[in-house]
Parts: sequence; C-alpha cells; structure tokens
Amino acid sequence: MTLMIDTDKMVEFLVGLLNTPSPTGDTKRGMSYIQESFGPLPFEMNLTPKGVLVGTWPGQVNDHPRALTAHVDTLGGIVGEIKSNGRLRVSQLGGWEWTSVEGEGVTIFTGNGQTYRGSFLPTTASVHAHSRKERETESDYKKMEVRIDARTKSAQETRALGIRVGDFIAFDPRVEVSEAGFIRSRHLDDKASIATIYGALEAINRAGLKPRQDTTIHISNYEEVGHGAAAGMPQNLVELVAIDMAVVAPIQTSDEYSVTICAKDSRGPYHVDLRRELEKLAEEEGIAYHTDIYHFYGSDGEAYWRAGGDVRVALIGPGVDASHHYERTHRDSLEETAKLIVAYLLS
Ligand SMILES: [Zn+2]
Repeated sequence: MTLMIDTDKMVEFLVGLLNTPSPTGDTKRGMSYIQESFGPLPFEMNLTPKGVLVGTWPGQVNDHPRALTAHVDTLGGIVGEIKSNGRLRVSQLGGWEWTSVEGEGVTIFTGNGQTYRGSFLPTTASVHAHSRKERETESDYKKMEVRIDARTKSAQETRALGIRVGDFIAFDPRVEVSEAGFIRSRHLDDKASIATIYGALEAINRAGLKPRQDTTIHISNYEEVGHGAAAGMPQNLVELVAIDMAVVAPIQTSDEYSVTICAKDSRGPYHVDLRRELEKLAEEEGIAYHTDIYHFYGSDGEAYWRAGGDVRVALIGPGVDASHHYERTHRDSLEETAKLIVAYLLS
C-alpha cells in the first residue's frame, strides 16, 4: 500500500534536528526535539535510564513485534586538555579524520550551563607565521586545537570561563538545502534516518492507519561508540530494522536518490530472510532501492545482536555521500526510505 510521504515536512524536521547539537554522550537536546516532534503520534516516547528515547505504537496484531532503531548521537569532541596558550586539545567522539574538521566552527558546552563558540584549527594555521614545512605536518590530537571566541591567553583564563576537561564540543553542522533537492550537512548520519522514520510514521498516522504489528521506535544515543541499541528493546521483540546511512562512494551501489538495503557490513551479514522480504516489498511498491555491502561499517542492528537480541535484524537507509565528513544526501533518498518503512510497517 502506497501512502503520500510529506517530504517537505520531513526535510523541515531534519533541518531542525541537524541544527540541534547531540554529540555522543550529550544527546538530551536532540532527544527533546524528537520527543516534541513525535508528540502528535498516538503513542508516547520516553527516555530510559541510559538515555534512549523509546515508545511502542500498538499495531493491529501483536504476534510478531517489531522495532525500528536509528541514532541521534553524532560525531563530536570532548575537551581533553586546556593548553597553556588558553586553547583546547580535543579528544574524539566517534571516528573522524582530523582534516575533516579543519576550520570548522564549534560550540563548547560547559558544566555550569554556559556555551562558548570557537573554531577547530591546526596549531600552525597562519600562513604568515609558519613555514610550509611546519604547516604541512599531519593533523592529529597534538596538532589541532580549538580557539575559543573569548579573551584568553592562558589555561587559567580559560578555566575562569568555566571550561573544564570533559566538556562536550559540537561541530557546526552547516545545513544547506538546495533548490535541486540536495541536503548538505554534517551528521546526516544518522539524523537523516530519524527523519525517514518521522516521515513514515507521520504518513501512516495522517492516513488514519496504524502499523500491522506492535512497533517500537527506538532512538539510540551511543551508536557512534558501538553500543547504542544494546539496551532499551522490549523483551518480546522478533524483528529489528536498523535505519542508518548508506555509503555513497565510487565502489558502492548506493546513491543519494534511493534507499539501500544492506546485505553485509564489516561485522557480518544481516538476516537474509528479512532482507529478501524487504527487497520484495521494494519491488512490489516500485521503490527505488539498491542492495549493497559496506566495507568499514557497523550498525546498531549488530549492537543488539551482540547484546544477545534473538531477533531477525535488517539494515536499510538513505544514501549519504562523504560520510563522517561534510555529508550530503538528496530528498529523493529520504522519500524512498520513508516509503520502504511505510510498506514494511503496514505489511
Ligand atoms: Zn550512523
């Protein structure tokens, strides 16, 4: 059954979520945004002690309970050291290349509730002060620092601002939606997928329908460090579909205009029967899809398997170019993914 997806609304939700910082370990702002946006749906979403946002939409039947999971946590940083020049060394949250954040704007969240702006720079950023040889050394923890937009030249002055080791740092997402339908931003992984869940549930609710099976929506908060969906699932679950970005790169079948159904990633294959069912659904509904494998990738689906979840697990998602860098997708990919989620939930 095909339902109209309100793609404009889905993109609007996504832009708001992208502009809400939620680095791994400090995701409350993102969860509040989702909880509020999902408010009109006919079930409640609540935070578990770990901080997972979870709720179950009662279905027509309950003989095969299902869950969808996507993660709100993103790459980011945490203050690792306050340097003698007043600037900050940054410890990484999640896997990203130092070159991918050179020159990026950041927000620092202090323990006393203050925020500071700043930028991520190489220690030898100035062309007028450092030789080419000095500037061309490889970026790493020691060669990169955050310059805080505050008057500080010493560790003492930075501490006086209220900044401490352990404070969270979010990168500016730089969201841009183009006329041509492209959405450019950091952290489309995995906020684009949450948007597809939003779009799918909104369409089902607007049509006055409900899912075939009891369906739990699980928004995880520690995926980028490997254990997001290890907790927070209902005991009676039979099936889990993880929604996470598909890898768009020259060697992949995935693109920014379709939904990808993942056969295997670096932690192994997904449940073949569930995958075949999703491929069949996509065929029947005329949904643009690709089946792909990912070479350097793990998902919350596997996190749940490794935590002991005895369920069928699949992974689908919208195509994201330049993942964990300055990412890009297209609204068509969101729409096709939302359509597959609708088809699945109603089947
Ligand atoms: Zn992800």
